[in-house]
Amino acid sequence: MVCEIKEELKGLLSQNQLEQMEEYSVKDMVKLYTGSVENVGWDKFVWNRLTVPKHRFFVWLTMNNRLQTTSIWHKIGIASSASCLICDDDEETQTHLLFECKYSSAVFRQVKRWCELPDNLTNINIALRWIARSRKSCFQKKVLFAIMGAMIYHIWGSRNEAYWNQKVITIHRIVNTIQKEIVERLYRVMPKKVGTARKMWLRRLAHQVCN
Ligand SMILES: [Zn+2]
Repeated sequence: MVCEIKEELKGLLSQNQLEQMEEYSVKDMVKLYTGSVENVGWDKFVWNRLTVPKHRFFVWLTMNNRLQTTSIWHKIGIASSASCLICDDDEETQTHLLFECKYSSAVFRQVKRWCELPDNLTNINIALRWIARSRKSCFQKKVLFAIMGAMIYHIWGSRNEAYWNQKVITIHRIVNTIQKEIVERLYRVMPKKVGTARKMWLRRLAHQVCN
């Protein structure tokens, strides 16, 4: 995990800063990068134990609109086109990539079905707000936030795969990866005092992982 975060942050921090840190934690990284992790209403969900550590930083980047999309690369002259690397139908802004692209919409549709979120949540942003305001238990909210984090991370990963290897990961495979990572994480760090209803819900999620 440490190595993955280190890799992801190489573009943001100097070699000196990286070498000076003995132990990497995502929170430390964000502090170093921003000076603070305060004033974010969703932090208690993003920084919860149920979220897969490598996903947290990407949720934070997304919430702060800092994903380095092709649209940004195009504006600063790094990319020759601003088009979405996955669908090639529109400009690859963060909003397009995560919320409007037909690829991410299809992934989101399947994930919603899996974790029993309402069908009318049209994008991850709306879903995050809906989850935060819902009457679900704190535990369920954390699980759902962890799922949204996984989705952001893997859609971004799929976009990078398209960039580096000119291949788009199938929707089935990306959904399967999200499900497996989440289920594995939940069973590994699940709090001891989880009631029967919640255990049943987790078991249902585990049984409905697509093959
Ligand atoms: Zn697209």
